[in-house]
Amino acid sequence: MARKVTLIAGDGVGPEVTGAAVRVINAAGGEIEWEPAVAGSGAIEKHGSPLPESTLESIQRNGVGLKGPVTTAVGTGFPSVNVALRKKLDLYANLRPVKNLPGVETHFDDVDLIVVRENTEDLYSGVEHVVAPGVTESVKIITKAASSRIARFAFEYAVRRQRKKVTAVHKANIMKISDGLFLEACRHVAQEFSTVQYQEIIVDNLAMQLVLNPKQFDILVLTNLYGDIISDLCAGLVGGLGLVPGANFGDNCAVFEAVHGSAPDIAGKNIANPLAVIFSGLLMLRYLGLDSVADRIRAAVRRVALCRENLTPDVGGSSTTTQLTESIIQALN
Ligand code: ATP
Repeated sequence: MARKVTLIAGDGVGPEVTGAAVRVINAAGGEIEWEPAVAGSGAIEKHGSPLPESTLESIQRNGVGLKGPVTTAVGTGFPSVNVALRKKLDLYANLRPVKNLPGVETHFDDVDLIVVRENTEDLYSGVEHVVAPGVTESVKIITKAASSRIARFAFEYAVRRQRKKVTAVHKANIMKISDGLFLEACRHVAQEFSTVQYQEIIVDNLAMQLVLNPKQFDILVLTNLYGDIISDLCAGLVGGLGLVPGANFGDNCAVFEAVHGSAPDIAGKNIANPLAVIFSGLLMLRYLGLDSVADRIRAAVRRVALCRENLTPDVGGSSTTTQLTESIIQALN
């Protein structure tokens, strides 16, 4: 029986790249019944809200969503839809696997990192205000409960996937109380997992170490803001935002989406790289137990990437989103 999945096309390049992912998944025989739902600027026009209740209900009902990027206004306007969605559905764990794609040349050739980002608190609390004219304050919230929960997610993932090491990322030398609590929670959880090595690193040092020698890391576990920044850095290690998938997990549902944003600079030009959303779709297929469909798609993408002819401009090619999508579909057969 076909599995129902909520499909949110999103803003900017969202409809182009999610459309590509849906085409590829359908062509590979993934039996998915897509239930369209809206979020982002399109939703404001129709529903008066960038995140309508009907969209949240659809994800809750289906338990699974595939989502395109949604524009977040800088400085003004509605609060971030992504942040609201993660908080409302308690999608506390953000997983971003970062791996080289053979055929896409980068400075490093065997990056294989897993970024595990806490999704519900930190400076994303949304609690900020003007204290006095010219003086502002933004509140960083770190709790023992959320820190332990994300640390446990990282270690359990390590055990399940036979990964060797979890590195907790912090700035507890400066934020001794908040990042200190995060570290304390990670250390505590680490004791339960004797087969997984545990280490800690200060976030600025991590940034440097990643661009010098990313292979020294395996799984990184980070609070929300460090996770956001470091996952974009990691995307750069393997060729950019057009290649890195993401998944948001809660206890009752999961939403799969690319790391990248709505990329307004290239929207509507048919040149966005659909691979990040296609790879997010693979994570989704595996979550649904459709591993053989995911394997087929991954093999097809590898074949296409290796011959380099049909890649998009962001990774050195000159093909369109449509051409790349069609070549992947052809390579499935
Ligand atoms: P957000 O704040 O919403 O996360 P962002 O600041 O990370 O967004 P993006 O919208 O992801 O910004 O775009 C950053 C850069 O990466 C832009 O130059 C954009 O064109 C490029 N980019 C993002 N996604 C893709 C893609 N799928 N294909 C090609 N280029 C992309």
